[in-house]
Amino acid sequence: MDLEKAYQPQRFEPHWAEWWVASGIFHADPKAPGSRFSLAVPPPNVTGSLHIGHMLDHTVIDTATRWHRMRGDNTLFLPGTDHAGIATQMLVERSLAAEGVTRQQLGRAEFVSRVWEWKEKYGNRITSQMKRIGDSCDWSREQFTLSPELSRAVLEAFVRLYERGFIYRGTYMVNWCPRCATALSDLEVKHEDTQGNLWHIRYPVNNSSRYLIVATTRPETMLGDTAVAVNPADSRYRDLAGQTVTLPLMHRPIPVIFDEIADPQFGTGVVKITPAHDPNDLEAGKRHDLPQIKVIGEDARMTAEAGPYAGLDRFEARKRIVADLEKLDLLENVEPYKLALSRCDRCGTIVEPLISTQWFVKTQPLAQKAMAAVNDGRIQFIPDNWNKTFFNWMENIRDWCISRQLWWGHRIPAWHCTNCRKITVAREAPESCPNCQSGALEQDPDVLDTWFSSSLWPFSTLGWPADTEDLRAYYPTSLMITGFDILFFWVARMTMMGLELTGDVPFREVHMHGLVRDPERKKMSKTKGNVVDPLDINDKFGTDACRLWLLMAAAPGTDITYNEDRLNAARQFANKLWNAARLVLMNMESAGIEPCLPDPGELAALEDRWIFSRLNRTAESVNRALEQHRYHEVAEELWQFFWHDFCDWYLEIKKLRLMPNSGLTNDWRNLLGVFGAYLRLQHPILPFITEELWHRFGQNSSIALARYPREGPVDEAAEREMSLLQELVTAARKLKADNGLDDKLELAGVLYCRNGSRRVELPVLEWLAKVKFEIRTDAPSILTGAVRSTPEFDLLLELPKVDSEIQQQRLAKESDKLEALVANSDRQLANEKFLNGAPAHVIESLRMKRAEYIAQIEKNRAALAQLR
Ligand SMILES: [Zn+2]
Ligand SMILES: [Zn+2]
Repeated sequence: MDLEKAYQPQRFEPHWAEWWVASGIFHADPKAPGSRFSLAVPPPNVTGSLHIGHMLDHTVIDTATRWHRMRGDNTLFLPGTDHAGIATQMLVERSLAAEGVTRQQLGRAEFVSRVWEWKEKYGNRITSQMKRIGDSCDWSREQFTLSPELSRAVLEAFVRLYERGFIYRGTYMVNWCPRCATALSDLEVKHEDTQGNLWHIRYPVNNSSRYLIVATTRPETMLGDTAVAVNPADSRYRDLAGQTVTLPLMHRPIPVIFDEIADPQFGTGVVKITPAHDPNDLEAGKRHDLPQIKVIGEDARMTAEAGPYAGLDRFEARKRIVADLEKLDLLENVEPYKLALSRCDRCGTIVEPLISTQWFVKTQPLAQKAMAAVNDGRIQFIPDNWNKTFFNWMENIRDWCISRQLWWGHRIPAWHCTNCRKITVAREAPESCPNCQSGALEQDPDVLDTWFSSSLWPFSTLGWPADTEDLRAYYPTSLMITGFDILFFWVARMTMMGLELTGDVPFREVHMHGLVRDPERKKMSKTKGNVVDPLDINDKFGTDACRLWLLMAAAPGTDITYNEDRLNAARQFANKLWNAARLVLMNMESAGIEPCLPDPGELAALEDRWIFSRLNRTAESVNRALEQHRYHEVAEELWQFFWHDFCDWYLEIKKLRLMPNSGLTNDWRNLLGVFGAYLRLQHPILPFITEELWHRFGQNSSIALARYPREGPVDEAAEREMSLLQELVTAARKLKADNGLDDKLELAGVLYCRNGSRRVELPVLEWLAKVKFEIRTDAPSILTGAVRSTPEFDLLLELPKVDSEIQQQRLAKESDKLEALVANSDRQLANEKFLNGAPAHVIESLRMKRAEYIAQIEKNRAALAQLR
């Protein structure tokens, strides 16, 4: 039964992690009683490995889940992974490139089967990490967004939305990544402020000696210009009605149009119109019926439409075009210009706006329903300041481009008739075209955006579209916990899809937490190299300590800063819990008691009445804080209770009561009762150490299934009495410290009870204070010497005479030291250079310190006088 001296989480954490999975105790039964608590993990990418953001997510999720389970709720924590379209395809393409093969060489079917092979081999890294960090999931319900079951849900969702008119095919400007060779949604594009140039180019007006000057940051697109525009209100250009200009380099006449798109205040007030390469120009082009000339292709090379520049890379073409304009004296000037460059979020390639035919979800009507659900409280954001951000985005939502030109993903269930060109969307491949009966049908080559399947996650994982027992029991899910960075990618889309397809919200509460930042509060990123690996942290400090640190730092609406001191403190806390358990177990052994955690006995002794009162209060506020997702408060409360009530006072008092060979006395029952309750309170936060200690104290079943302590009776009288006792002990200790005496030194003293009515537990007081007291009910005539007074007591210590000499020496020595410090401060405060250079708060704190030194010198002087 010996507990190892050192707390070494590495020795038992992996064991419990495996045991939890193998024992199947987290299996959810939809028929079981209890109110339902269900939650689906935000599915990590199958390519991924656990990062610190996941660790935060999973800590909060698992804490909430374990708490609900222990409260007796019918709890489901559903795990799974996302097939992560672009990310996974890129990874496999890269490994193929190492073999010198491209996916095109392999062909679609072979490539996809290679990705599956990759997934089988490496795709479970993230789930084994989830198991290792103690996620209390029902692994029998593990899901994968590209599994046959979930693919069926995706197919059904697509067809239903199409039938209801929410999915359409359209020709629009999309963000195109030439490297990934696919369209990207707005959210998959990141914007980066860059120093670029604004090129001012002269367009000669036909039949005139005049030029119009247009400015552009992308001169290569000029080859596709089909007009120049001026504002109808701009008086400078009224005479140009019906005129044309010659497009330089292409020698093509293009019209001057009058359109609001031109801002008279900006530059010359003339803008070039390139409908095929700019979303605003595309709109203007539609208004004026302009042709769309595509001069940059999907491969980022200039097309045949680019004339002499055809075949060049877009940036090479830019250089040549600028040089040629210069030669022709058509370049007015070049001006440095700050612009927001759009890059592919996956690969960093500069995105090209291109016109292409894609599939879209018409989001506005879906967004209306989603906003209504948040408005009427069917979905609650925590903290609720996210409502504003959510509404802002939803009100301005653009249609969602859902087709991707990839091979790894859900293939779009649409068939193109090569005969009549009609498109058929269906649940199963049609035999022939319903329009012309031709059998020449080809399935759309595109796959769906990976977020399309994730947006169905809360219900597809429960068996939708089938009406399953799981769906009926666990949908809507109770809670979604995630970082704010995927509010739009994911939370908003799940809400829209859930409401449209199931008629109900996908979850009732959304808890948004902040980011984990580096010690300088910078965002962590691989490129910056400031990423901390949670697995390293877990190795070094233990998973429990990592969880405790994250929760203590996770106040709602704030980001968390990585801080090794805090992690160390969390580890020390776990260490203290370990040491307390060890002390208790050792004492049990000498009392002849087998390890056990019995129910508490009778609460008669002051410390027992007091500790259970405190325990009940703590349980009450911890349950309330958990209900409100105030996890930092939970961690803080439990820390305070254990460190300051249980260890500092209760255990100390019990050392007086517990006798060797006593057997399981009432004192033991209470001590073990409160300790067992504390382990259960801490279990959701510190699952590993509590499970380990639970078993070390003779329990056979998992603590994860034990009852979570709730609020109970509070004993105000015991709390008052205990706080008086604490006050007296503290006073005695302070007196000893003031006189340079050791805490443990046994002294004699007198306790004057001013009104005689209050009871003091004298043996406890004497034990803790290490002072033998004489109790007096008379009032002291004069109080001199080592005295502390409370409203009800005067406490007098008899200081050892023999020590007087030594004490005088000590005081004199300390005063010398302090004098030196004062002299040092005086020197600094007289130094002009320091006074001018140092920040005000530094100078101020030096002044304060100096005053403190002087006050202490005064005190010492008085004490010395008294001793003499
Ligand atoms: Zn890309
Ligand atoms: Zn047809």
